[in-house]
Amino acid sequence: MTKMNENRLNKLRQILNQNGLDFAYISDFKTIQYLTGFGSNPYERILAMVVFSDQDPFIFAPALEVEVVKSVGWPYGLYGYQDNEDGLQMIYDHIKERIAQPKKAAVEKDNLTLSRFYPLQTAFPETDFSFDLTPVIERLRLIKESDEIEKLKQAGHDADLAFEAGFKALKAGKSELQIAAELEYATKSRNVPEMSFGTLVQTAEHAADPHGETSSLPLKNNALVLFDLGTVYKGYISDASRTVALGTPSDHMREVHQIVLEAQLAAQAAVKPGKTAAEIDKTARDIIEKAGFGQYFIHRLGHGMGMSEHEFPSIMQGNDLVLEPGMCFSIEPGIYIPNDLGVRIEDCVYVTKDGCEPFTHMSKKLQQFG
Ligand code: MN
Ligand code: MN
Repeated sequence: MTKMNENRLNKLRQILNQNGLDFAYISDFKTIQYLTGFGSNPYERILAMVVFSDQDPFIFAPALEVEVVKSVGWPYGLYGYQDNEDGLQMIYDHIKERIAQPKKAAVEKDNLTLSRFYPLQTAFPETDFSFDLTPVIERLRLIKESDEIEKLKQAGHDADLAFEAGFKALKAGKSELQIAAELEYATKSRNVPEMSFGTLVQTAEHAADPHGETSSLPLKNNALVLFDLGTVYKGYISDASRTVALGTPSDHMREVHQIVLEAQLAAQAAVKPGKTAAEIDKTARDIIEKAGFGQYFIHRLGHGMGMSEHEFPSIMQGNDLVLEPGMCFSIEPGIYIPNDLGVRIEDCVYVTKDGCEPFTHMSKKLQQFG
């Protein structure tokens, strides 16, 4: 757990004031982690944080989490509840103790389920809950601070070691799942608590499906293998892809790999403050199109990342967002030729004053194993 960051809480309070909001009901545990340093997935239990425009906030947590919240140095209100208690009613009572008749409040529309929202609306029938906090939090999380960058670097380092373990496991006849299992075993054996998503290992033509899953297919010799993996470090993730060869790659495989590599490197070199997200996408896309493979690059160039791999900014055509230092995103061009092969090369980077730095450093050249 990391210590809380009062600065982020102050920014949120400012936003509440600017928008005439009496309170924000925060239900996404990642948002709570971002604001407080306390990170825990409550699953079906209730975890909420209520931030007021002009009073101290409180956290409402399962009783078994109360001591953990204290350990991050949380200086404000903290209430626990037992599984047999009516947690929601308790939260509403704590809000009413502070503000009897709120006029306007914000909820995280991308996170709060209807079954948790309707009781809230019923408890506060006069309150306008139309303000959506989700984009506000996304905007706050868009620019990473130095402590966040440090965590992302450590997650990137763990991903580099995971690649090493995966490459070492490569052998024709082993299944994709076996390789993924060996890679994850080695990674967790180094005390990495979790992967940020299920490790993807795809061999030969199976890699042509960029949304496919790691399967029981056996690895073929003289074919490409695509790895896409990530790890979690103190709530921050890594996400990287490499495509390597098992045995000797054909000239066609080398050519496709080389084009994707050039596109990836060119896009990464093009990143700097002042450029738009669309321009970075275009840099990579132009190279793949000129090489004649444009129709096989079937997704955006990249996505924002940090506490998850689904953050802003989206690096794609049509996004005129101007890059700023501290933004973090993936650069992951790919060429997917059905019934033939798939190549993707991905690094996540953070924008610096005059360029960008990747979080992962594993070689992107076409490495050969076996
Ligand atoms: Mn990615
Ligand atoms: Mn990935």
